Amino acid sequence: MSDSEGDFDDIETGVSSVLLGFSGKEASKGELNVLGNHIGGEPIWFQNKGPDHALTICKVCEKDLDLLAQLSCPLPDKDYDRALYIFTCSDPNCRRKKGSIRAIKGVESNDQVKKRIMAELAEEEPQNNLVPTSGNLGDLLFGSSSKLKIPEPVPTAPIVQKEPKQQMSYAKKLSQYKKRDFTYVKGKYGCRILLVEEEYFDQKNEDQKYSNVKIDTEEPADDPESQSSNTDNVVDASAINDPMFSHFVEIVEYNPDQVLRYEYGLKPLYYSSKDDIPREVNELKNRVLEVQLMPQLISVLETDEMIADGMEWGTIFIATEKDDILPQLDSNGVGYTEEWVGVQWEQENIR
Ligand SMILES: [Zn+2]
Repeated sequence: MSDSEGDFDDIETGVSSVLLGFSGKEASKGELNVLGNHIGGEPIWFQNKGPDHALTICKVCEKDLDLLAQLSCPLPDKDYDRALYIFTCSDPNCRRKKGSIRAIKGVESNDQVKKRIMAELAEEEPQNNLVPTSGNLGDLLFGSSSKLKIPEPVPTAPIVQKEPKQQMSYAKKLSQYKKRDFTYVKGKYGCRILLVEEEYFDQKNEDQKYSNVKIDTEEPADDPESQSSNTDNVVDASAINDPMFSHFVEIVEYNPDQVLRYEYGLKPLYYSSKDDIPREVNELKNRVLEVQLMPQLISVLETDEMIADGMEWGTIFIATEKDDILPQLDSNGVGYTEEWVGVQWEQENIR
């Protein structure tokens, strides 16, 4: 297999070293933590102190960006907390433009954090935890729990104190729904907890074939002229014939609901060979590929009303600085820096 297609021999062994992220339950701000993982909603900053505003605006229109995902990704040999934030501009005029999708790394490095990490390492020695205690990507990856094949359990709803039953008016019911909406974290996209599992290649889900790459397989493009046509009704046969795209689809079909892929030193799973990203990734010096956002994330985050003017990326790669050089830290030990983002856009003539 060529290098550009990546080395996915894992299919034969049935499991890969990649961690997959899946959409979990809706989350309110109170349930989120800077050491946890979520998609949509708003970023949770270290010590509630965000980066310079210039890092969280669109480089095209200069409006505030919306959060796609926040991931806790501590590194095994580092004694500080570390998170990645991936943002997009939701203005349709900025789609497909460089700088409309950005990634930031945040760290907190101080005595308190060091103490906590040391204590966690000491605690993790005994083999008493069958289930990971947090949804932390780094914990699953690098903690003692990383060897476990047990997926993160779906968080259960907190136990709610039962109120005495009483007749409820329709208006009151409605107001309750509204209240519930208010508990969402603000931000363009509704917030959900991210669940993490190791990638398995058990069985392809034929039912969901192609469903999250927006290709209409019912309509084979056997008309050669259709490839050059721009009408909306045409399936882009060139995408289906693209070996990189075919490979992408093959891998995704094993776990069609994956919204992101994580590994420190991730093998890229290219969406297309028709742009510069495969070359750019190959040429990355002093950077480590770490996260790949998958198109299923769009389906999870966008409501029906958003789709018409919605996101149009196929996949997003984030590569962080090798050796994880610390950004400049403030007096509390908190700092942020921008990381490399590569976007493969959806083929323009795929609906
Ligand atoms: Zn913009």
